[in-house]
Amino acid sequence: MSDLFTLVNPATAVPIQDVPLASLGEADAAIAAAHEAFASWRAVAPGERARLLRSFAAVVDAHVEELAGLEVRNAGHTWGNARWEAGNVRDCLNYYAGAPERMFGRQIPVPGGTDVTFHEPLGVVGIIVPWNFPMPVAAWGFAPALAAGNTVVLKPAELTPLTAIRLGELALEAGLPEHVLTVLPGAGPVVGERFVTHPLVRKVTFTGSTAVGKRIMAGCAEQVKRVTLELGGKSANIVFADTDLATAAATAPYAVFDNAGQDCCARSRILVERSAYDEFLTHLQPAVEGFRVAVPETDEGAEMGPLISAGQQARVRSYLDEAEVAFAGTTPGGDGFWVPPSVVTVDDPGARIWREEVFGPVVAVMPFDDEGHAVELANASDYGLSGSIFTDDLGRGLRVARAVEAGNLSVNSHSAVRYWTPFGGYKQSGLGRELGPDAPMSFTEEKNVFISH
Ligand code: NAD
Repeated sequence: MSDLFTLVNPATAVPIQDVPLASLGEADAAIAAAHEAFASWRAVAPGERARLLRSFAAVVDAHVEELAGLEVRNAGHTWGNARWEAGNVRDCLNYYAGAPERMFGRQIPVPGGTDVTFHEPLGVVGIIVPWNFPMPVAAWGFAPALAAGNTVVLKPAELTPLTAIRLGELALEAGLPEHVLTVLPGAGPVVGERFVTHPLVRKVTFTGSTAVGKRIMAGCAEQVKRVTLELGGKSANIVFADTDLATAAATAPYAVFDNAGQDCCARSRILVERSAYDEFLTHLQPAVEGFRVAVPETDEGAEMGPLISAGQQARVRSYLDEAEVAFAGTTPGGDGFWVPPSVVTVDDPGARIWREEVFGPVVAVMPFDDEGHAVELANASDYGLSGSIFTDDLGRGLRVARAVEAGNLSVNSHSAVRYWTPFGGYKQSGLGRELGPDAPMSFTEEKNVFISH
C-alpha cells in the first residue's frame, strides 16, 4: 500500500485531497518502463515527434483554465500567474517541437576519410520539480528532453503534484506513447533519490534548494551521471539615482512579492544609490502597502496569495522576527498561510536577512555609494541567479549587467525568464542552463564517427 499525502489549500488551510506517494518499487518499475519505451521513442521520425509535441501543446491549450484552477487551489497562485504558467507549458512544447528536425550534427575535415558528429538522446531523464512553479519548471525539463528523443520520469514536489499528474494524462490524450512521459508523485528521499542512484536514469534535472542540489550532485558524481541544477537565489535590484525613482519603486514589489516571494529569481535585495535612498523609500511605501494580497480562488484581482505551507510561513516569520520591518502590506487573515509583503532596511551586509534566501514576501533594502560599491554588494553572495539594474545611463546599465555575477540580468526591467532564452545560475545558484535554443542538446551525447576511405 502506498503512503498517502494530504494536499491542503494554502489560502484556507482546508485539505483538498490525498495523493499516493510512490514506493521505491514503483519508482524502479517506472524507470524500467521508461527505459523500454526509449528504444522506440528515439526511433520515431523527427517530423512525427514534432507533430506529437505540437499535439500535446494543443491539448494543454484546451485545458489552460482547468490547469490554472488546479494551481490556484493547490499552490495558492493568483489566477493571472496560474494562467500564464499553463500557457508557458503550451508555449514551451510548441517551441521545442521545432527541435527534432534541427538536431544538427557537424562534418569536420579530417584527412583520409569523413568525420561526422551525431546528437544522440541519453535515455531516461529524471526530472525533480519544486513546489513554487510546478508547471513551468516541469515543462522546461520535459519539453526539450522529449524533443531530443529521451523518455522522462518526472517527480513533482510532494505539496503540489496535481498539475503534473494532469499533464501526464494530457500527454497520453495527445497521443504520446505510454511511458514516454511518466509523472510519479513521491517523496524526495525515495523517488528523487532513486533517480540519482538508478543506473538507467542517465541524467537528473533538479530544481529546488541549494542544500538538496548539493546532495544530488554528490550522488550523481558516484556514477558520473549528467546533472543540471537550478537552485536558490538572492538577486539584487540595483537602483541608480538617475533613474525615474517613482517607476523603479512602483515595479520593485512585483519583482519580489510575485508568487508571495517564492520565486528563485525574486529581487529580494534592493540596492539604492545613497542620494536617492530616502526618496525611493517614500515611493516604495505606498506601493507595498497597497499591494493586493487576497484569497486567489475568490478574488481574481489578487496580486499575491498565501505561502505554500505552515512550515514555510513559520520560516519566513523567523526572519522577520529578527529584523526591523520599515513598512508592510496587509493580509486577508483567516487560517491560510499568510505573511504580509514586508520591507526591512539593512545596513549590515552580514545580516542573515541580507545573505540568506528567505523565499517569502520580504525584501531588504540597503544604500550604496557608487557603481563599484553596488557591484561589490550585489556580488557578495553565494548565489548568482538573476538581477535588475535601473539607470538612465545605458552604458552603465550594460557595464553593471556584465559585472554582476548572475545568469539572468535585465536593465530597466525585471523580466528575465523566457522559454527561448537561456536560463540558469552562477555560483551556488546552479549548474548548466535550461531553456533557449540549446536546451535539447543538453539532453544528448555528441558522438563522433570517422569513416575511413
Ligand atoms: P527542495 O529542495 O526541498 O525540493 C525540491 C524537490 O526536490 C522536491 O520535488 C523534493 O521532493 C525533492 N527532494 C527533496 N529531497 C530530495 C532528495 N534527498 N533527493 C532527491 N530529491 C529530493 O526545494 P523546495 O523547497 O521544493 O523549492 C524551493 C527552492 O527551489 C528554493 O531554494 C528556490 O530558490 C529553488 N528554485 C530554484 C529555481 C531555479 O530555476 N533556479 C526555480 C524554482 C525554485
